[in-house]
Amino acid sequence: MVSVDKKSFKLAYINKFLELHGIDLKEGNNQQKYEALAGLIRDYVSRMWLKTNKKNNKSGQKQVYYFSMEFLMGRLLGDALLNLGIRDICKEALSELNIPLEELENLEHDQGLGNGGLGRLAACFLDSMASLNIPGNGCGIRYKYGFFEQKIVDGKQVEVSDDWLKEGNAWEMRKANKSEIVKFGGEVKVDYINNNLTFTHVNYEPVLAIPYDTPIVGYDNDVVNTLRLWSAEAVSNEFDFSSFSRGDFLKAIEYKNSIESISQVLYPEDSFYKGKILRLKQQYFFVSAGIQSIIRHFKKYGGNIEELDEKIAIHINDTHPTLAIPEIMRILVDEEGLDWNVAWRITTNTVSYTNHTILAEALEKWPIDMFKSLLPRIYMIVEEINKRYCEELWNRFQGQWQKISDMSIIADGQVKMAHLAIVGSHSVNGVAKLHTEILKKKEMSNFYYLYPNKFNNKTNGITHRRWLLKSNPKLTNLLKDTIGDSFIKHPTDLNNFQKYLSDDSVLEKLSRIKLENKKRLASTILKNQKIEVDPYSIFDVQVKRIHAYKRQILNCLRIMDLYNSLIDNPDKDIESRTFIFAGKAAPGYYLAKNTIELINSIAKTINNDSRVNNKIKVVFMENYNVSLAEQIIPGTDLSEQISTTTKEASGTSNMKFMMNGAVTIATLDGANIEIKDEVTDENIVIFGLTADEVLSYYRSGGYNSSEIYNSDIRVKRVVDDLVSGRYNPDKDRFRSIYENLVNYNDEFFVLKDFDSYVKAQNKIDMLYKDERRWQKMCGQNIAHSGIFSSDRTIEQYATGIWGSEVIYKNL
Ligand SMILES: *Cc1c(COP(=O)(O)O)cnc(C)c1O
Repeated sequence: MVSVDKKSFKLAYINKFLELHGIDLKEGNNQQKYEALAGLIRDYVSRMWLKTNKKNNKSGQKQVYYFSMEFLMGRLLGDALLNLGIRDICKEALSELNIPLEELENLEHDQGLGNGGLGRLAACFLDSMASLNIPGNGCGIRYKYGFFEQKIVDGKQVEVSDDWLKEGNAWEMRKANKSEIVKFGGEVKVDYINNNLTFTHVNYEPVLAIPYDTPIVGYDNDVVNTLRLWSAEAVSNEFDFSSFSRGDFLKAIEYKNSIESISQVLYPEDSFYKGKILRLKQQYFFVSAGIQSIIRHFKKYGGNIEELDEKIAIHINDTHPTLAIPEIMRILVDEEGLDWNVAWRITTNTVSYTNHTILAEALEKWPIDMFKSLLPRIYMIVEEINKRYCEELWNRFQGQWQKISDMSIIADGQVKMAHLAIVGSHSVNGVAKLHTEILKKKEMSNFYYLYPNKFNNKTNGITHRRWLLKSNPKLTNLLKDTIGDSFIKHPTDLNNFQKYLSDDSVLEKLSRIKLENKKRLASTILKNQKIEVDPYSIFDVQVKRIHAYKRQILNCLRIMDLYNSLIDNPDKDIESRTFIFAGKAAPGYYLAKNTIELINSIAKTINNDSRVNNKIKVVFMENYNVSLAEQIIPGTDLSEQISTTTKEASGTSNMKFMMNGAVTIATLDGANIEIKDEVTDENIVIFGLTADEVLSYYRSGGYNSSEIYNSDIRVKRVVDDLVSGRYNPDKDRFRSIYENLVNYNDEFFVLKDFDSYVKAQNKIDMLYKDERRWQKMCGQNIAHSGIFSSDRTIEQYATGIWGSEVIYKNL
C-alpha cells in the first residue's frame, strides 16, 4: 500500500505537473493533467516494482511467464489506484484542485492489444497473479496499432486504425539495453566438430526486439509484476544497413519499414486462422525474444540450465506461442550444448498449454514451405521432435497408420501447432468443464488416450477487482456494508450475501443501484448513439465478438418475432425492453459484418415505429472494448449467452454479468453450465439443445432446418422478412443470412432453438414482473459469483500446473 495523505498527494501532484510540463497547473489541459497523474502514480509503483524484482532475483521462487499473442488490458490508471488503495485520497486531492478524477481517467486510451475473451483472460490473469503474490509475468507483442476502432456508418461497420500510442503511453518503459536479436530466413550449416553435430544459422535476417515493460500492480500487497511487450526494429545502421551503403536511402527506409511491420498491427480475427506469413513472423518474433531474455536473466542470476524447469514455468495461451517449444530446444541443444533427451525433458516440464477453442477454422496449421524458409533451424528441430514422437506412436499403435498420420505434428504438407503444443508440454487444459470433456472425448481423444495425465480443466475466471470493485462502486459499497470487505481478498466470501436476500431493504437497495447504473448507461447510449432509452425497461444485453456461433442472429429473429406479435396484438402484455448489442466483426468476415447491419436495420425500423417504440427499442453501441464493457455490464438486467451448445469454450462475459447482478438466459454451453450449477436452476433461464444432441446431429445428421421454416409460422414470417424489404430497402441485403438458415441447413441450429428461446424469453418476462423474486435472483447471482474470480483460476493453475508456491502474505 502507498501511505500518503491528501495534503502530500496534492503537493506531489502539483510538483509532478510542473516537472513534466514546465507550466502552472492552472494553464494545463486535461491531457496534461492526466499525464501528470499517471506519472505520479508510476513513481509510487516504480519503488514497489524494484522491490518485487529484487525479491524475485534472489528468492529462488519459481517464475511464471504467461505467453500470449494478446493482452486486452483496457485502461490502467483506475486499476492502479484501486490496487494501491489510494483512489479516494487521489479523488479528494484532485477535487480540491478542481480536477474531476473520472474525466482524467476517461482520457486514457484503452490498451486494446487483443480481440476478445482470449486476450481479456490474459489481462485478468496478470491482475490475479500479482494480487496473489505469484511471480508471474506476461510476454507478448507491443503492437503499434491495437484492435481497430469500430465506427458505424449507415448501419455498417467501418474500421479505423487504433493509434493508441499517439498521445504516448504513461505506463510503459522502454528497455533498450535488454533487447534481443531474432533471426529469420537464411540457412543452417551443419558441421561435425569433436564428435558432435553442430548447427550454425547463417545468412539470416536479424531483427532487433526491444522490450517495453508495463507494471502490473497487485491488490494491497506491494507486489508489482511485469508485462513485457516486444517491439520490432531494424538492427542499427552500421551493422546491417551496410548493404545500402552506396547511398540507396529509400531502399534502406523500405527495409526498415518491412522489419517494423512485424509488430505493426494486431490481427483482428477471433477464433479464425489465416495462414499469413506475417502472423508466423509475429509468433516467432515475440516467442524467441521472450525465451532468450528469460534464459539470459535466469543464467545471470546464477541459474543452472539443467534446473530450468524447476525454476521457470512457461504457459502458452492457445497455440499462438507454441514455437516456444522448439525455441527452448534450440537454445538448450545448440547454445547450451545439452543432450537432446535432457533438453526435451526440461522443455516439456517447463511448458504448459491452454486450448481455447474446438472450432476447426481456428486451428493453426502452417504450410511446410513457409515455415521452413522463414525458420530453417526451428523447422529442423520440429522435424526431429516429430521423428522421435512418431517412433513412440509406432510402438504404441502398431499398424494403425491412419491414426499415426492423424496424430503427427507434420503431415499433409503442414505443421500442426496444436499437436506440437500437446506433445511438447506437460499439461494441456481446457477452459470449462464441458470444453475439457469435449477435448478429451472427441477433439483430442487420440492424444488423451496417449497422454491421459496431461489433460486437465481450468475453468476461466475474471478479476473481480476490475469487474466489480472498479466498474461497479455502488454495488461494491452495498456489499461492504452488508458482508464486510473480506470478499475482496477472498471472493468466495460473496456467498455471505445470500443471507441478506431475505431482507427487503437490501433488495430495495440492490434494485436502486441497478437503476442508477442503468441511468448511467442510458446517458452513454444517448451521448454515443443518440437514442433515448427508458431505464425502467429491461436492459437485455448481448455484447461480445460478432460470430455465427455466438448467434446474434437468434437474438435478432426473436426481436423480429416480438415486434410482429406487438403489431398483431397491440395490447399484448409484455415488459418493455431495451435490446442492447455491441461487438466487432472481423473485417473479412462477411456474415458477421452483415449481422451488424441487420441489427442496425432492425433498430432503425423498430425505434421509428410509434406503435411499438414505447415498449421496445434496439441499440447497437459502437466500438465495444473493455472500457465500454465496464459501463454496460453493471447496467444490465439480462445477460444473453446463447451460443450454439459445444461451440463456446467458456465465455467470460457471462461471469462478469452475474457478478454485477444480471440474470442469465443461456444455452448449456461453456461455463454457463457451471454458472447454472452454482446458482441452481431457479436463478438462471436455460434453453436449447444439449451438447449430446448437438454432437449427435453433427455425427449422424437428422436435422432439417427447412422443416422448421415450413412448419413454424412465426419462424417463416421472421425469416422471410430478412428478404422482404421490411427492414432494408435492398431486399438482397440479408440474403446470405436467409440462405444459411433455410437452404444451407442452419449450421448453428438457430431455427432449431428458436421456439425454446422464445419460451425462455417469455419466462424472463414472467419472472421480471415479480419484483422481489427478480431482485433475489440478481442477488443470488452476485452471491455465487465468487468462484468465477480469476483468483480461483490462477490458484488452480499455480498449484495444479505451474508448481508455484502460492503465498498470500505481503512482501
Ligand atoms: C469479457 C470480454 C470479452 C469476452 O466476451 P464473451 O462474451 O465471453 O465472448 C470480449 N471483449 C471484451 C471487451 C470483454 O471485456
